[in-house]
Parts: sequence; C-alpha cells; structure tokens
Amino acid sequence: MKTETIAIHAGNHTDETTGAVVQPITMSTTFERMEDGSFREGLIYSRAANPNRTSLEKVLTQLEGGADAAAFSSGNAAGMAVFQSLQPGTHIIAPDDMYHGLRNQLKQLFAGILEFDFIDIDDTDVLKAHLKPNTGVIWIETPSNPLLKVTDIKKVVALAKQHQIKVVCDNTFATPICQQPLALGADLVMHSTTKYFGGHSDLMGGALITAKNDGWWEKIRNVQTMGGAIPSPMDCYYLVRSIKTLPYRIKGHLHNAQLLAEFLDNHPSVEQVLYPGLSSHPNHEVAKAQMTGFGGVLSFCLKGGEEEARKVINRLKLFTKATSLGGVESLIEHRATVEGPDTKTPFNLLRVSVGLEHIDDLIADLTQALA
Ligand SMILES: *Cc1c(COP(=O)(O)O)cnc(C)c1O
Repeated sequence: MKTETIAIHAGNHTDETTGAVVQPITMSTTFERMEDGSFREGLIYSRAANPNRTSLEKVLTQLEGGADAAAFSSGNAAGMAVFQSLQPGTHIIAPDDMYHGLRNQLKQLFAGILEFDFIDIDDTDVLKAHLKPNTGVIWIETPSNPLLKVTDIKKVVALAKQHQIKVVCDNTFATPICQQPLALGADLVMHSTTKYFGGHSDLMGGALITAKNDGWWEKIRNVQTMGGAIPSPMDCYYLVRSIKTLPYRIKGHLHNAQLLAEFLDNHPSVEQVLYPGLSSHPNHEVAKAQMTGFGGVLSFCLKGGEEEARKVINRLKLFTKATSLGGVESLIEHRATVEGPDTKTPFNLLRVSVGLEHIDDLIADLTQALA
C-alpha cells in the first residue's frame, strides 16, 4: 500500500465491542487476568504495552518500512534509548552539527560511559580517519539542523557495513514521506514525533524504527519498557490521529517551503538560502537521489549580519518567534541563540519552519519585514 493509505489505516481498527470506527483510548494501567491466569490479549501492565501505543508503533513501522517500532515520551528519550542499549565503551561517530539536544546529552550524560566524536560526516576521508575498533554506531541526521546539510545515506552505510558498524538516522526533518533511510540500508531510524508526526505543536514524543528484529532491537525494547520513558495513551492517540493527515500536511509544507526558498533566494537583502530543494544547494543532487521531497524547514542568512537578522525577526507579524518545527503554523528563530555558546551556527542565520498558511500571506509578511 501507498503511504497515504498506510497513514490512515495501519494504526487504527474498529472497536470490536462498540463498533466505534475510531479506536478508543485505553487509559487503564492494568489488565485483568482470566481464571486460568492468562491475559485476554497478552496485555498485563501499561508500561510494557498499551493498545494505543501498539497502534502507534504499527503505523510507524509500516510508514518507515521497518520490522518493528518503539515509541517514547520524547525524541531525546528515543535517542537516549539507543545510547543506553550500547555496551559501555562503545564509540559513536556523530555529525558536528548533530541536533544540539542530543549532542549535549552525549557530552553531559554519557561522558565516561560511551566514547564519541563529532565530525564532518560528509567528508569520507575524515569519517574513515575516525573509525576505531570499538566504533559501534555512526549517527546521521539528514537534512541537518539548522544548516540543512544532506548526508549521502547509502555512502555512509556502505562504509559502515565494511566494518560491522550500525547506522542510525535521525529522520525528523524529512519524515518517511520524504525519505526512507531503512530502504537505503540504515539499521535504525529515529524521530522526534513532537515535530511533523504530531504536526500541531501540542505534544511531545519520540520513536525508533528498526530494520531487523535482532538482539540489538531486543535491548532497545527493554530500555523502553524497563526504563519506562513511554508516551501516554492520550499522546499515542493524538499521534495516530495526526499521522492520518501527515502525507497531505507534508505536501503543503513542501509546496510552501519551495516557494518561500525561491522568494528568499531572489531577495536582495538575503545573503544565502539553505534549502536542499534549491539547485544552488551544495547537496542538491544527493538530496534529489535519496529524497522524494526536500522538507519543510529552511534557513537563510541576512546580508546585514546579526543585527539585521534580529530586526527582521521582530518585524514579522505572521511568523511566530519560537523554536521547534513541523507544526501547521510558521515559526522562525535566531538559531545561534537557541543553541548556546558552543554553537557553530552563523549569527546572521534565521531558521524557518514553514507552516501551512497560504504562501501569499507568508511571502507578504517576509516582504514587509525585509523591506
Ligand atoms: C526536536 C528534535 C529532536 C529531539 O526531540 P524532542 O522531541 O524535542 O525530545 C531530535 N532531533 C531533531 C532533528 C529534532 O528536531
């Protein structure tokens, strides 16, 4: 089946007892034993499994074309589950512009437990030079945040396979509608479902989707159910509900992002636009080869430097000045401020999460703010 169909049907089933077309929310934390001590549907206690979480995991599995999925209470909890599943002393290679929340997690919570290097992952010589006998995971994030760099997933996978290294791909910016890393050879996909899956800036969640039901996955599942960083039945319900419109929301985000990128690219006050859908983007060819859409996030740099960037952001009326992405409303932020003192993000850069308002209104607002 195609993604539009999977998104609507894979996570939902009509309720057997009432005929409700939408699956009910099961809030119960515990499930009754039968006389013989067994459980009706194998459900025992909600930390281990809950019907709404199972439905969410089912639709996530099918959308990414994986073997199984595990849902978490945030994207960072999903990332943490990967790191917790590794043997102490394992070496991780991650991009130097890895999502700052996960980079800080590694540096602050896993120092002395895991080894890690943050490098320019797209430079094969640099990547090769950092391989060690204990390298267990190459972490990629593509398109990256906030520079929108695109990593050639197949190329990294080919190198990793030669050395029995696992590849994890943070697919938050692309979503499975635009990019399916498992089909390109990645072992694990990570998502912050807080972003496009939720789509309405009103819930936090994370997910891991695996290519194989292997021993590593079993460990990750144990981190989920024993660690307990699980999403509530309510949040799982909202995610399943939002995922039904994900493919169509993404079509709108792609449409608006491409037109906004082209508008900014032609604007005299703009120094540079970072969006993989522009032919001027350094990784445009790789993006075209591995993506079916270029995502709904773009960054742009102002000619007038940081001062001008701050002025523009304050003149905008329709774009909300807030961090995060993937919601129906357009957001804009001065990214270097969000990332803190060790940021490598240029100070004249603004990151935009392009929402689903009419493109004419978005362009009109930017036109007045840049004037
Ligand atoms: C937001 C985000 C995360 C972290 O997810 P949370 O749900 O905020 O914990 C990880 N990776 C990327 C690319 C993100 O944008």
